[in-house]
Amino acid sequence: MDWKVPLADLDYGVEEERAVLNVLHSKWLTMGEVTQQFEAEFSQLVGRKYAFAVSNATEALHLAVTALGIGEGDEVITPSFSFVATSNAVLYTAADVIFADIIGNDDLTIDPLDIERKITRHTKAIIVMHYGGYPCRMEEILAVAAQHRLPVIEDAAHCPGATLKRKALGSWGTIGCFSFFSNKNLSTGEGGMIVTDDEFLAEKIRMRRSHGMTTLTYDRHQGHAYSYDVIDLGYNYRIDEIRSALGREQLKKLMINNNLRKRNTEQYRSLLDKVNVDLPFREYEGEPAYHLLPVLLPEGTNRKKVIDCMRAQLIQTSIHYPPTHSFTFYTKRYGRISLPKTELAAERELTLPLYPTMSSSDVEFVVDSLVKSLETALKP
Ligand SMILES: *Cc1c(COP(=O)(O)O)cnc(C)c1O
Repeated sequence: MDWKVPLADLDYGVEEERAVLNVLHSKWLTMGEVTQQFEAEFSQLVGRKYAFAVSNATEALHLAVTALGIGEGDEVITPSFSFVATSNAVLYTAADVIFADIIGNDDLTIDPLDIERKITRHTKAIIVMHYGGYPCRMEEILAVAAQHRLPVIEDAAHCPGATLKRKALGSWGTIGCFSFFSNKNLSTGEGGMIVTDDEFLAEKIRMRRSHGMTTLTYDRHQGHAYSYDVIDLGYNYRIDEIRSALGREQLKKLMINNNLRKRNTEQYRSLLDKVNVDLPFREYEGEPAYHLLPVLLPEGTNRKKVIDCMRAQLIQTSIHYPPTHSFTFYTKRYGRISLPKTELAAERELTLPLYPTMSSSDVEFVVDSLVKSLETALKP
């Protein structure tokens, strides 16, 4: 489709092109120096000792769960109101997910009280997700976690550069996982980063990212090593230099672009004030990454009609998210689960376009179109 206003758009320029060409000319494509630089810069951004670049955030989440030694018979508490990868990462290890509900329509992040209610003697970790780039209630969540001696994994896919009490999201819990998928705030096509301060976990992650091998191809190429041992069951979750080069360029633009997202979000909020929709995250703490612009349509609205109407005006919208517990695979595994607040918000949620290069007239156009589409959808 040739969208007039797509849901998301890349901010790529000659810098990215040059960075990729430099890698191609260097003739070293797999994980090497560019990746090490990207990792060092990213660990600076989030203020964590260790950062490992991987091919995507799903792998980062899987590495996080396995590094914590989680497996069969264990339970991990996750939000259902997230991308399915948050929960899939747990199931890969043969552990089970226990879904916790969200706080409500004003705050779509996981509810610390429901986390506490779902803890059993089998619980081994808590995964939280900073929905749309808005911080979860980390202080309350960490207090619950500390009381039960549980590690917290942050699915920070939406929030590179975001902070809560001046501390980066992704650096509050034991491990933070970031995504550089094409529509995220920092994009490399596919890509991700896993960060931690824990040396023991870092070593496990480093090994398992690359087959459990003691040396890398790059070390051998450099003449630093000639052979290797395999000391753990690992995977191939490596990134490559081309994407790390894209990541370094995107990182330079991240804070400027998060600020442009903020400006667009504020314009949306003031225009949507007069529209018959509910706005989650009217109030929030810290400095979010403004990844998504979610609205809740009036109850009983035919959402598909609204989406189709907006599509007819070449505006792309989306839904974040169909709840994980409602997917066929999950209902087959766990039966029907009730998460009333997740279900209520998910039924009404519509995500409007938001990206740094969006102009203020784009924002006006989207809101006008939403108003007209709502009128059409309410007609019998
Ligand atoms: C995008 C996303 C992921 C998965 O990231 P990939 O890099 O595509 O694997 C996980 N969780 C959330 C919340 C996401 O938005």
